[in-house]
Amino acid sequence: MHSKTPLIQSQFLEDSGLNKKILFKMDAYQPIGSFKIRGIGYACKKYHEQGRNQFISSSGGNAGIATAYAGSQLNVSTMVVVPETTKRAAIKLIKSYGAKVVVKGSDWSEANDYALSLVNQNSDSVLIHPFDDPLIWEGHSSIIDEVIEAGTSPDLVIVSVGGGGLLNGILQGLHRNQLKSCPVFACETNGTASFKLCKSTGKHKTLDAITGVATSLGARQVSEATFDWISKHPMESLVFSDEQAIEASRRFLNTHRTAVEVACGASLCVPLFKPEILKDYSNILIIVCGGVSVEPVCFKRLN
Ligand SMILES: *Cc1c(COP(=O)(O)O)cnc(C)c1O
Repeated sequence: MHSKTPLIQSQFLEDSGLNKKILFKMDAYQPIGSFKIRGIGYACKKYHEQGRNQFISSSGGNAGIATAYAGSQLNVSTMVVVPETTKRAAIKLIKSYGAKVVVKGSDWSEANDYALSLVNQNSDSVLIHPFDDPLIWEGHSSIIDEVIEAGTSPDLVIVSVGGGGLLNGILQGLHRNQLKSCPVFACETNGTASFKLCKSTGKHKTLDAITGVATSLGARQVSEATFDWISKHPMESLVFSDEQAIEASRRFLNTHRTAVEVACGASLCVPLFKPEILKDYSNILIIVCGGVSVEPVCFKRLN
């Protein structure tokens, strides 16, 4: 259901004097605007083969959009339960793929509880989680297969982390392709740093609250599998401010003519704001995870 996406040379460090090859994996160019269709498309296909005939999502963001798209492609009826805070534009987009939208609850966890109750009432239906499902990680891992097929072997991967579904997929892909020791930099914003909390404490902890503009990174706790990966793979946790992530998205639009969410901007911050930590690497892969909720603020000061 997903497309093979381009791998393009970054122009970010062009005049920095650093002799680095940075490649962008352009998952912003997926049919729904983000990488999410890889994992969610794969999971939906598998559940459909197992006889499930209704998909239920509880995400008003890119995961809900991916589920609606997968449902439309597979001709499976799809319902997306979204909290009252969901923007009208997002609801409109989800509906445009033929999914039914139900507005319920004041936040994601209330919407999710309602979605779960619907799944429990109908055994032919299945809840499509935004990040916590091995089928989703398997689907996301195709990103690394495509990079290897393109003839590149990265010595560093930079990726944004919300609940960790994308990160789990990247790690799975690296291990499958003999890149077990290729380090991964996991990027978040200050208000969404649930991975950082686990990495720095060594415990599977939960944030009290999510704050800031990077809503697609807004999981208060990373998946159990993400936590388990911390002790099994070389990873660094990097955290940037909202302002930096916005600036990185803006620079990306300016330089590469593609609008991405600030959730994606968090990864783009590394070469812009911490180029010195790239000194030991020469073949750097940044996952441009994309996202449709692009705030107009990213377009300001474009010149
Ligand atoms: C979902 C999403 C993320 C985070 O992915 P997880 O699998 O939750 O870690 C990052 N960026 C964008 C644009 C997303 O839609």
